[in-house]
Amino acid sequence: MKPPPETDPPADAEARKAVRPVICYPVDTLPPPPMARYRAARQDMEKIAEVIAPPRDAACFRVPAGHFFRISSVDGSQVGDLNLWHEHDLSERFYSGKTRALHGTHLSTGDRMWSSFPHLRAMTTITHDTLDWYGWDAFGGSVHDVIGTRCDPYTNRLLSGGDYHHCCHSNLTRALADETGLPLAEAEAHVHDVLNVFMCTGFSADTHQYFMKASPVRPGDFIEFFAEIDLLGALSACPGGDCSAEHSSDATPCYPLLIEIFRPRTGALHDWVPPDANRYDRSHGR
Ligand SMILES: [Zn+2]
Repeated sequence: MKPPPETDPPADAEARKAVRPVICYPVDTLPPPPMARYRAARQDMEKIAEVIAPPRDAACFRVPAGHFFRISSVDGSQVGDLNLWHEHDLSERFYSGKTRALHGTHLSTGDRMWSSFPHLRAMTTITHDTLDWYGWDAFGGSVHDVIGTRCDPYTNRLLSGGDYHHCCHSNLTRALADETGLPLAEAEAHVHDVLNVFMCTGFSADTHQYFMKASPVRPGDFIEFFAEIDLLGALSACPGGDCSAEHSSDATPCYPLLIEIFRPRTGALHDWVPPDANRYDRSHGR
């Protein structure tokens, strides 16, 4: 909540406020993802691996470029926090803020997850989302946001004073350290703002604060991605469970999440190539 304003509005205040907004980043110039090809490639695709992210914990997984991966709700309504890196260069990682600027606050089929500077290329394209029916609810909420960050022990200490170690930030840190052999502190520096898979969120109409509400996800629901580059992923099954109440304690029912990797139908993507890194020359005006 902001305090009441201390400054008197100028004479033309209403006129200034009445100016119509324009979209910051119109995406009409982006080449559209080849969804028909992806749809053809996901027919008869073959499952080659699966990993479980246990409740209140995280798991890593690897997806070769040109393959699909799917995150599924299995035993109960559960939210997941997803991090992605280039498998061979952890400095290229998911850029939640720029993805939000390009695609809006929540992602669904046809949206892409973009990587950090200087790469800024598609890491994934979302190819299926069984919660796409949800759209927007009466509170302005929707599913799979890129506005939240991840629950973490630092904010928890700031707000409540307690230490809680099984928050998504710490779960992702431990999983990445175990997967790569990096010391915990080094792994932590690679953990970044997430895609909040299955989480239902928005901004409150009165104070514009970030809100969450019980996820509409049910066992059997899934979101599916096409890997545009070789990926290392980490997924945390958030201690908040369905995120209807809180997310930094062991009080909430919490369930595993299933991650499955699929090889596309043979030949469907024979001439497909991963996207190049961004072509900006990095001279920055010098
Ligand atoms: Zn969390």
